[in-house]
Order: sequence, then C-alpha cells, then structure tokens
Amino acid sequence: MLGRGGRWLQRAGGAASAPHGAQLRFDGAVLRLKSGWELARGLLVFRLCGLPGLVRQAPMLLSVSRWLLGRWLWGSLLRASFYGQFVAGQTPPEVGVTVQRLRAQGLRPLLAVPIEEDVGQDKEGGRWGLGCECRGSDCVSPQRAVEAGVRVLVDAEYTYVNPALTLVTLALMGRWNRAKPWVWNTYQCYLQDCLARLGADVALAERRGFCFGVKLVRGAYLEQERRLERQGGYPDPLHPTWEATNHSYQRCLDLLLELVARDGQRCQLIVASHNETSVSHAVRRMEELGIAKDRGAVCFGQLLGMCDHVSLALGQAGYAIYKSIPYGAVEDVLPYLVRRAQENQSVLQGIRKERDLLRHELWRRLLRRP
Ligand SMILES: Cc1cc2nc3c(=O)[nH]c(=O)nc-3n(C[C@H](O)[C@H](O)[C@H](O)COP(=O)(O)OP(=O)(O)OC[C@H]3O[C@@H](n4cnc5c(N)ncnc54)[C@H](O)[C@@H]3O)c2cc1C
Repeated sequence: MLGRGGRWLQRAGGAASAPHGAQLRFDGAVLRLKSGWELARGLLVFRLCGLPGLVRQAPMLLSVSRWLLGRWLWGSLLRASFYGQFVAGQTPPEVGVTVQRLRAQGLRPLLAVPIEEDVGQDKEGGRWGLGCECRGSDCVSPQRAVEAGVRVLVDAEYTYVNPALTLVTLALMGRWNRAKPWVWNTYQCYLQDCLARLGADVALAERRGFCFGVKLVRGAYLEQERRLERQGGYPDPLHPTWEATNHSYQRCLDLLLELVARDGQRCQLIVASHNETSVSHAVRRMEELGIAKDRGAVCFGQLLGMCDHVSLALGQAGYAIYKSIPYGAVEDVLPYLVRRAQENQSVLQGIRKERDLLRHELWRRLLRRP
C-alpha cells in the first residue's frame, strides 16, 4: 500500500522540483549510497543465482545444508546472504531497521506477505500477498487500512483465481474508493486480454463513480500458466513473446498515464517493474503529460534487493519509489527466496546489468578511485 510518503534524506536538494528525467541515469552512480557490505552481498547473491545447477537444486541443497550445519549456523548464513538481500526481517523491530535504511536512501516501503503456496497447485507455484505501506503490523483489512490512512494493493495471481480476485477487489473499490483510491487492483500485461479488461474496469469505475488505483505488472507466473495451459488443453492466455508482453505493458501504461493526467486524484498508478525501458517511458510520458513526479499519483515499485540502481536513481531524482518488502522467519520465506533465485537467473536483463554495476562500484572503492 502506498500512502503518506517517506522523506528523501539523502536526496540531492531540490530534486523533487527538478525537471523530469533531468537527473535520471541508470548508470550505477547511485550505488555509492550503498554500504560496502551491501555491495559485496549483492554481488555474491547474484553470482550464486547465475549458477544453474545450484538454483535448480536449491530446495534440496537448503534442506541438506540445514541438516549438516544445524539450524543456527544455517540461519545465520542465509541471513548474511539471500535472506538479507531479499527479505526485510522477521520481527517488527527488524523490519523497522530495514524501513529506516530504505527511507534514508530515498525509498518507501511496500509491505508484502510472501505467501508461496497455493491451493490446487504444487509448491513451486508462487503467490503474491497483499501489499501495503508499512505503518504497523496489521493493515490488510481495507477498513483498518483506510482508517489508518494506508492504501491496500491486491495482487494478481493465476488466471484461474484472477476473475474472483478482481470481482472482490472491484467490490472493495466501490465500497472504499469514493473519495480516494485506497484499494488498488493489479493488472498483468502478459495476459492477452489485459488491455481490454483494464479498459472495462476503468469504464466501470467511471460509471459507478469510484476512484481507481492500479498496480501495473508484466506477470509472475509465466511458466506455471504455460504448464496449466498444456495440461488443460485450452488456448494460451499469455502473449507469445516477451516483446509482445512489453508492447502490452506500454499500451496499458499509456492508457493509465492519460487517465492520471486527466484526474490524478481519482486515478493513480504504480509502475511495478524493473524494466528500464518501461520506467524511462513512464518518466518521459509523465513529463509530456505534465504529471508531477512527487505527488504520488504515479509512483514506481521494485522488489527489495533487486534493481537498486533503478530504484535509487528514481528516488534521488525525486520520484515516488516503493520497495516491496517481504518479511517472515527464514524457514517461512524459503520458497520466496528460491523463486527470487530462479527469477534472477532467467530473463531479467536488469539483473545482469546490476551485477556489473555492483562489481564496478566495489572495485572503484577498493582501488580508491574518485
Ligand atoms: C512491486 C512489485 C509488485 C509485483 N506484484 C505482482 C503481482 O501482484 N502479481 C504478479 O503476477 N506479479 C507481480 N510482480 C512481478 C512482475 O509481474 C514481474 O514478474 C517482475 O516484475 C518481472 O517483470 P519486469 O517488468 O520487472 O521485468 P522484465 O525482465 O522486463 O520482464 C520479465 C517479464 O516479462 C514477461 N515475459 C518474459 N518472457 C516472456 C515470454 N516469452 N512471453 C511472454 N511474456 C514474457 C514475464 O511477465 C516476465 O516476468 C510484481 C513486481 C513488483 C516489482
């Protein structure tokens, strides 16, 4: 959930009022904001994610190493590596420390429940929980969230769950979004019917007079959806290629940005992507349409531990940027960590670039270059 924003403690003065894109470069210069330890841990984790055998066998390796090392040592090693990279902590004070660190870097927290098991699916399947801005331990009930001044983002899941999820979310929007978009829905652009469904829901919101909040993502269940489609023998609901998904993302983004430009109080958007092209496109269109970068009608979202060179650059340039922060005990978030490792290994171009930028920054410090 999004809501009252964080502060830009380390941001260059006046960034919020600077022109769009003027200070936005994804060249890794902002990695200077990270500690040496964070750089080294990121590099180690992304290197390990690059080993296909290790990632494939991760669940087995995790249980064997836990048995060999004992719970304490095993937990400590994970905390120093994967868990520390991708998870905010276990207890409220631990999560609080992560939130403070993010805020000090100009980033805002988006609390996420890392639920990875799904009824009717095998345990490899991932699920997203509800996202909400971190302002206490219990902010998932819409009523409590609205009372606390916090926005609730309902995640999108598998195609066989989404219609029910959307129905419930639209009903919540109709109930709670009369004056402001407190409840938001997620749209997955890898679905062929995404633009049509988005258009229909926007029209419904206009007809019924409720405000509309959108989290725009590409979609996280590519392999599982394709497997279900093969098993079920029904037409593939997904776009056939990454390029087609990118095109779909851009069309949805353009539609939403125009709606925000028309009325940024009633329609709001989070560009939830690590893709530099999408982020740059959003920034450019915001400038062309006159959408303020720091009012929160359009904000950006990335996962904790991923694409920090993009998140930090956005934060330092004055954009509203949220990091999705999962939390929980080491044992409970293992499936989430395995999925992060798998995702980092495959398609995400940004991760390869991030690894190079982390290495470059680490060498710069070691060689004491300016
Ligand atoms: C803050 C945040 C919240 C999120 N919430 C959700 C959520 O609620 N529900 C959800 O499903 N996901 C969610 N995601 C994950 C998101 O859907 C993507 O899986 C992830 O962000 C990678 O996409 P990208 O745009 O960042 O990067 P990119 O690397 O540019 O894109 C990768 C994505 O492109 C698509 N793709 C890749 N190859 C193909 C192909 N051959 N054919 C078709 N499409 C392809 C897939 O969707 C893949 O995930 C969230 C992500 C963030 C950052």
